[in-house]
Amino acid sequence: MKFIDLGLDQRILDGIDAMGYETATPVQQQVMVPILEGKDIIAAAQTGTGKTAAFLLPLLHRLLTSAHTAGDINALIIVPTRELAIQIAESIEGLSYFTDVSSIAVYGGGDGSSFVAEKKALTSGVDIVVCTPGRMIAHLNMGYVKLKGLKYLVLDESDKMLDMGFSDDIAKIITFLPAQRQNLLFSATMPAKMRVLSKKILVNPVEINIAISKPPEKIIQKAFMVYDAQKVPVIIDMLSSKRYSKVIVFCSKKSNVKQLTSKLIYAKLSAAEIHSDLDQKSREQYLQDFRNQKTNILVATDILSRGIDIDDIDLVINYDVPNDGEDYIHRIGRTARAATSGTAFTLVGEKEQSKFAEIEELLGVPVLKGVVPEMFGPTPLYAPKQQRPNKFTRRR
Ligand code: AMP
Repeated sequence: MKFIDLGLDQRILDGIDAMGYETATPVQQQVMVPILEGKDIIAAAQTGTGKTAAFLLPLLHRLLTSAHTAGDINALIIVPTRELAIQIAESIEGLSYFTDVSSIAVYGGGDGSSFVAEKKALTSGVDIVVCTPGRMIAHLNMGYVKLKGLKYLVLDESDKMLDMGFSDDIAKIITFLPAQRQNLLFSATMPAKMRVLSKKILVNPVEINIAISKPPEKIIQKAFMVYDAQKVPVIIDMLSSKRYSKVIVFCSKKSNVKQLTSKLIYAKLSAAEIHSDLDQKSREQYLQDFRNQKTNILVATDILSRGIDIDDIDLVINYDVPNDGEDYIHRIGRTARAATSGTAFTLVGEKEQSKFAEIEELLGVPVLKGVVPEMFGPTPLYAPKQQRPNKFTRRR
């Protein structure tokens, strides 16, 4: 489907052109029409499917073509992380480049001056606000946020927001909104608690299910059975033996991110770390350096596993096995986005084998097992059934 067939405003079509999109992705094809018709929707769609533009384009069209309260906030997009807020704000900027729609990202972690700038925009009115829940509540509690004219509410990555404990914050924000509005709820997964949230927020929603809990087929996946002490040398070998331009290494713990990054730097690899102990400015700087290929390895916690839009990642390495299959799919989904292919390696420690076996069960197929070079010495056999489930293993 071509965007022009949707009857979008010409200024938006110009923005789409400038972004280089030619045809609508499947999620865009299914989501845009009901949004343009003013319906509430609940959409299961993972990142990488084009879901951001799927809600932004019809939203922008409606803002430009229907009654529009100048000087008020017209649309509120609530997201779990600062990075996602910034990324969506950038997409708005690109897609609305030829319009006069104004927007701002409101998120915690910046310095005092960003709070003042946010306050100014929220007081004088801005068309679209993209926010993280806690920061928005801080502003709402001060009483100057202009929400009376709000017409659209978007909850993006809703499952992650629930996982992060934002359910009460979302409920609180909603108490400030006019009852008459269009609600759009996006989530990568649809656990039972999402139904509860959707019942509270949505009115006769159109349900759209694009997400399949399967990684894109273009990703070459390999798992390596190792002893814990072999993980760092094996990763250094993987990163040194072939030239990758953009690699993300995921670790479940911040302490592992820090240790691994310093070891990679010591091995003369171009690496930087991303985790929640860093201030906002450093996080943005490191992300920017990575996007611009000033550094080519980013070592990160799961903070980066969802929603972050970095193109052309050749390789994702899981330093450890993620706690569940959805996290695995999100992590490896950072590679092979859009039309490219990518590789995902997972280092499976001895005690992580049963966790990995559960992930394979969710995938429905075994992951190819890679061979660790002989110079690293003997490696464990893959024998997950002989292991007792560890404390992370979900019981069925
Ligand atoms: P998202 O799922 O929203 O994170 O989008 C994933 C990537 O796809 C982003 O880099 C978008 O800019 C890009 N994208 C979104 N829609 C399209 C489209 N129709 N054609 C090509 N690329 C797109």
